[in-house]
Amino acid sequence: MPNELPIELRGASRCDVNAHIFLRDNYTCVHCGFDGRSFPNWMQLTVDHKRRVGLPADENDDNKVTCCPACNSMAGNVGELKELPLDLPIDEYFQRKKEYVKRSRKTFFDFWPANVAPSLE
Ligand SMILES: [Zn+2]
Repeated sequence: MPNELPIELRGASRCDVNAHIFLRDNYTCVHCGFDGRSFPNWMQLTVDHKRRVGLPADENDDNKVTCCPACNSMAGNVGELKELPLDLPIDEYFQRKKEYVKRSRKTFFDFWPANVAPSLE
């Protein structure tokens, strides 16, 4: 069995190349705990960078973490994350990123019952 996906099937997550990252992180989103151990959930896993891309070391494995698509979409270089200096120590940068994603998820969590749930009844 090949250990890389055919090139035409490679999406942004690169779940073949990043398999060792997912294994290290127990197939769990570092932000919300999304469990990627079932096949449909594993298909969703992505890799996030602790610190935004742009420094030479950013593609090192220790700068990569397992992330679900929802958290990854919130963890892009948006909002206050854009303002963080790149010379922050990586652990401090990542802590602030995690706090930003947590607050963003809370905004969605509060939005849902008022704006989405009623339409499902
Ligand atoms: Zn997540």
